[in-house]
Amino acid sequence: MVCIYCGSETKVVNSRLQKRNNQVWRRRQCPHCQSVVTTHEQIELQSALSVEKNGRPEPFMPGLLLNELVSALSHRKDVHMASEELLGAVVRKLLALPQKPLFQPFDISKTTAAILKRFDRRAYLHYLADHPSLQ
Ligand SMILES: [Zn+2]
Repeated sequence: MVCIYCGSETKVVNSRLQKRNNQVWRRRQCPHCQSVVTTHEQIELQSALSVEKNGRPEPFMPGLLLNELVSALSHRKDVHMASEELLGAVVRKLLALPQKPLFQPFDISKTTAAILKRFDRRAYLHYLADHPSLQ
């Protein structure tokens, strides 16, 4: 990684595996301007999922699901934070399903609806209205 201040190549001066959240923590120092920054490396869970479209696997697009969640939760004051949290909950639930890592679009909408139902009834009904295949 390059230094955010001067663009020189940084050096790793310390690193640690955090088992609790499966992250690698690194301290990086810039030999040119001496600035120090911390980085965290972790698996992007969403990148482990794919969706079958027209018989072919395609990468899962978390942005699309996030937009749907924002729309369903738009009556809430914490709409953006709640949507991010629920996106994480949907992804974790999908990774626990036997059909992982390849899902049908219906698997994703069904899982999302189940999570919304427990979280916010109004958002759940909004989501159902947008997904007639679930009814
Ligand atoms: Zn620098």
